[in-house]
Amino acid sequence: MYLARLTNRNIISTAEYDFTSDIFCIDPNCSAKVIFVEKSMDRAAHFKTTGKGESIHSEECGFFKELDFKEKLSLVSAYQEENIAQNVREHSIRLNLNKLDPDYVPREAPNGSSNLKEATEIDKDTIKEPSSTPQSISSLKTIKKLFNSVEPDLLASIILNVKGQKVPLSQIIREPHQAHELLWSDKDLPIQYFIFGHVTKIINRDKVKFINLNTEGIERPFTLVIFDKYLKYFELNDADLLHKDILACGFLKKNNYGDKEGTELIIKSSKFVEVF
Ligand SMILES: [Zn+2]
Repeated sequence: MYLARLTNRNIISTAEYDFTSDIFCIDPNCSAKVIFVEKSMDRAAHFKTTGKGESIHSEECGFFKELDFKEKLSLVSAYQEENIAQNVREHSIRLNLNKLDPDYVPREAPNGSSNLKEATEIDKDTIKEPSSTPQSISSLKTIKKLFNSVEPDLLASIILNVKGQKVPLSQIIREPHQAHELLWSDKDLPIQYFIFGHVTKIINRDKVKFINLNTEGIERPFTLVIFDKYLKYFELNDADLLHKDILACGFLKKNNYGDKEGTELIIKSSKFVEVF
């Protein structure tokens, strides 16, 4: 972990550690003492438990065991809600998925060649030790990789820069029932959302494909919709998707058709869907 809690409850990063204070695990459900570990060849400076005495994470702690994507997402969300990473430097990362969009036409530089410097794709090391070069996320794979490789305290410090708006990572990645809630209470932002859910059903009509996600008992359908025009860009087979966990990205849309208020996520290409 890269953050620790002081006796006065303040949260510090490894760079702020004074080498004398007692330091503890940041998880609100844990009071394990941690120690500082100097930077080495293969790892940035960090905090860790020793595994002895008072220095063992509690079973309810987010650092007790390896978490899967869904568990990490809800933990990061809880950490961001409790502002655990508020006092540390936030990692601001640009989110730009233009290249995945079949309708996107890149802007040409005046002299005909693109002289705009591409932002470097983010990886786990650049988050641990932020460099001055711009970092970006430009695919769903990167988000999946981040969740697999980065600890929850650092994930909670990530703020995404989406077309000029700053959005905490956990607010932009939602489960279907949370996205319903956001959209139908008109609290959604005019941005593309990432939805992590489980595929329950796929319906192929003549000119449209519907992919239903599990809504955790809510009686309102959540459906990925791929319209005719974009079916040629959708290369995943039904067998690749059915009963799998997926991360999908698109704009949320209310669906009033029929008797149930449903939520749709409009998908333009299979590059906007990552299968787990
Ligand atoms: Zn802990």
